[in-house]
Amino acid sequence: MDFLVATHNMKKREELTRILRPLGVNVYLDFECGVILHEVAETGSTFEENAMLKAVSGCVDSMMPCIADDSGLCIDFLDGQPGVYSARFLGEDTPYPEKIAKIVELMRDVPPEKRTARFVSAVACVFPDGRRFTVRGVCEGTIGFEPKGENGFGYDPIFYVGERSFAELTAEEKDAVSHRGNALRALEAELKKVL
Ligand code: IMP
Repeated sequence: MDFLVATHNMKKREELTRILRPLGVNVYLDFECGVILHEVAETGSTFEENAMLKAVSGCVDSMMPCIADDSGLCIDFLDGQPGVYSARFLGEDTPYPEKIAKIVELMRDVPPEKRTARFVSAVACVFPDGRRFTVRGVCEGTIGFEPKGENGFGYDPIFYVGERSFAELTAEEKDAVSHRGNALRALEAELKKVL
C-alpha cells in the first residue's frame, strides 16, 4: 500500500523513507504525489496529538493514507523539556548549535547520573476511510557535557547512547536504536493487523 509521509523536515523525511522502505511500506513525499501539504499548527499537548493533527491534514490534502511523526527530546533534569516544543525551543528559526549550547549551559553542573533523557517519536497513520491509530517509539539516553559528531540532525550531537552521540552513529546504527526506528517498527506491526 502507498502512503504519503507528511512532514516538511527534510532530515525526518529521509529517515522515515529509509526505515519504512525495507519494511515493505511504500512511502511518498508530497512533491512525488503532486500534493501540496498545508502547514499544520502543532497545538496538541502530546506527541500523539500533534502527529495525528499532521496525519489527518496530510490525508485530507492528498486523499491518500498518510503517516506523520511528531517527536522531541525530553530531558529529566529540565522536567521533560523541550519535549513537544523541541523544534520551537528558543524559537523555531534559532540554529541548532545555539539550542544545543543553551542545553549544555543549563546542564553544566548536572552530574552524570542525573543527565538522563529520551527521544520520543509518535507516529500517526490515517486512512481516507477514517481508520486511524498512533504508535510510539522511545530511545533512552543521556545528555552529553559537550556536542559531538557530524551526522544526523537537530539535537543528535548532545544525545548519547552509551559512549557515542547520535551524531556519531551511522544512519543504520541510529535507525536500529532510535525512537523513530522503534516507532516505525511498531507501525509495521500495527499495519499488519489493520490491512
Ligand atoms: P517536529 O518536526 O515538530 O516533530 O519536531 C521535532 C523536533 O524534535 C525536531 O525539530 C528536532 O529538534 C527534535 N528531534 C526529533 N527527532 C530527532 C532526532 O532523531 N534527532 C535530533 N533531533 C530530533
